[in-house]
Amino acid sequence: MYGAILGDIIGSRFEFDRGGKTKDFELLTEQDNWTDDSVMTVAVAEALMDAGKDAGAGEIEATCIRSMQKWGRKYPYAGYGARFINWVHAKKPEPYGSYGNGSAMRVSAAGWLYDSIERTREVAKACANVSHNHPEGIKGAECTAAVIYLGRKGASKEEIEAYVKAEFRYDLHETLDEMRARHCHVETCMDSLPKALKSFLDGESYEDVVRNAVSLGGDTDTLAAIAGAMAEAFYDMPALLREQCRARVKKDMLEVMERFERLIRHGEARKSSV
Ligand SMILES: [Mg+2]
Repeated sequence: MYGAILGDIIGSRFEFDRGGKTKDFELLTEQDNWTDDSVMTVAVAEALMDAGKDAGAGEIEATCIRSMQKWGRKYPYAGYGARFINWVHAKKPEPYGSYGNGSAMRVSAAGWLYDSIERTREVAKACANVSHNHPEGIKGAECTAAVIYLGRKGASKEEIEAYVKAEFRYDLHETLDEMRARHCHVETCMDSLPKALKSFLDGESYEDVVRNAVSLGGDTDTLAAIAGAMAEAFYDMPALLREQCRARVKKDMLEVMERFERLIRHGEARKSSV
């Protein structure tokens, strides 16, 4: 989840086409900060840890709703879409057929916690279902989690690309240059997944992948969060970048991130005090 959160932080400065659509930019500056992508990534990670590895889809959904409402209400001004913030405050939150890229940007924890790609996708679907239950919203979440799963299991880029094309039918023929030329600010899974996937597949390191994503312009924090999550699983991240990520998040977010790291590295998952 560091990969998603740092991608969000790096991309935040350039959202809404404020960047020069170039890979040549200062990676991190003092004003870079986390946004909704990081808050919801933390929320989903905490929900999945609390639900436990063997929880059924219904229990995962219920735990996700509780956690996402808790974190969303705690940090309500992080840049959510209008419909999502209504969902966060709803007494009876219902899925609203969204195919926004929010289902993909928050799901990275699901890519790390389970022992099969089928289970990974089942959990990713449950995470999306609570709000982004349009088939494209679910597909974006499943694809992101599946790429993370395959990356951490040692699959090659060719294997990952073949799986994505066969299972999710995303069209990946467009080059990054072509995407850059036409890209505008679009916040759908259908637009964001091919861009994040291409940024990842064409990248050479965590940093290079994030630079690819940011260079496309538009919804740069979310593109970099999704692509960064994929890159973390495939390349890992330099210790210095992890440290810079830790230095920029809130203490309660860091507690969940540390609990998550302990779980995926050592199998420990004590409930956090948040
Ligand atoms: Mg954002």
